[in-house]
Amino acid sequence: MTANADPREHFTATLRAARELDGADRLARFRRHFHLPPGRAGRRIYLCGHSLGLQPRGAAAVLAEVLDDWRQLAVDAHFDATRPWLDYHRQVSSDLALLAGAEPSEVVAMNSLTVNLHLMMASFYRPEGARHAVLIEAGAFPSDRYAVDSQIAWHGHHPAGARIEVGPRQGEWQLRTEDLIERIEAERSRLALVLLPGVQYLTGQVLDIAPIAAVCRKHDIPLGLDLAHAIGNVPLRLHEWDVDFAVWCSYKYLNAGPGAVAGCFVHARHARADLPRLAGWWGHDQRSRFDMPEAFRPMPGAEGWQLSNPPILALAPLLASLAVFRQAGIRQLHAKSQRLTGFLETLLGAWLEDDVEIITPPERGCQLSLRLSGGRTRARKVFETLAEHDVVADWREPDTLRLAPVPLYTRFQDVYRAADALRRILRP
Ligand SMILES: *Cc1c(COP(=O)(O)O)cnc(C)c1O
Repeated sequence: MTANADPREHFTATLRAARELDGADRLARFRRHFHLPPGRAGRRIYLCGHSLGLQPRGAAAVLAEVLDDWRQLAVDAHFDATRPWLDYHRQVSSDLALLAGAEPSEVVAMNSLTVNLHLMMASFYRPEGARHAVLIEAGAFPSDRYAVDSQIAWHGHHPAGARIEVGPRQGEWQLRTEDLIERIEAERSRLALVLLPGVQYLTGQVLDIAPIAAVCRKHDIPLGLDLAHAIGNVPLRLHEWDVDFAVWCSYKYLNAGPGAVAGCFVHARHARADLPRLAGWWGHDQRSRFDMPEAFRPMPGAEGWQLSNPPILALAPLLASLAVFRQAGIRQLHAKSQRLTGFLETLLGAWLEDDVEIITPPERGCQLSLRLSGGRTRARKVFETLAEHDVVADWREPDTLRLAPVPLYTRFQDVYRAADALRRILRP
């Protein structure tokens, strides 16, 4: 997950410089693949793709195709549709594998993120005696913490004693790899699972997974990743890093729409292992699924964790979205992210050094998190006023503003205008 942009690149804090950067941007054409929400004057500057990505223009046609097949073919659409529903989830496997750094058989589109997290923990969190603790990051996204706590309790243990949290050091914002590794080493006899984010949702920090995965493997502790803010944002190499499982949602950087079907990765070394799991008929060996056999025999690979036949309507927009990623390339997108956030950092440094503190490290995707000075009330007011300037950002209590200039649809001049709006609000 290293940056491939030139770290020494120097930006000039002018609108003219921004326009020149846009003129030379080879990814600029992808903006036309998205519906940009209208604002008071022109289009809104949408810096909220880390929460809900914009609608790809191709989504409507793919959805219409499904509705048409349903209308014309009804049940026969399972076999005879333009893209037969029986295997519809496989339409996205190779593109998801590209983004995840995985083999197609290691990924599957199914369910929602938190559901997948529970399914994965059912297989990979197998506490035994004193070894029943779970290590997560301090300040983890609430759903992940609830899922972990409820799994611990489900196995008859107390979350308070069994949830181990590692946070940044006093006065710091970022998790240090060496602190995570040290803690895993120290707690290894108690740990039954390590669950970490690919990108931390609040700070936007990209974690260095490879060395963490290595120490987990050394001590035979399963490692799972939550990639909600990582997939479609930064390049990933799940197979090579040798993580056990990963889960993600598709409505953030993957732009697949509200409630879109989420995803899951299970490493190939578990493909044929007879891991305990919560099973459903769609995970059963496809060759005999419709014979309705009595005994469950899982499909090899990630598909063996499927429960139900997939919601085709919630899967269709993902096809349209992934087609855009395939053309643009995740490495190219990440390189542009580095430059967009670098430009934003330059502008904020030049204009607002005393008003904002950037808590996102250089190891990042396209999110920059800012702490605003002057207390919560002032900070909250700034966020609300930004919306009046047609800048869509997002707010985390008590004082953090998250800005995500998504490289697929954000221009350098949008970044300039957003920073300029912030400047006019903070320094009227
Ligand atoms: C967005 C997000 C979720 C959302 O979970 P859903 O099951 O999709 O509602 C969970 N965890 C993290 C870290 C997230 O960023």
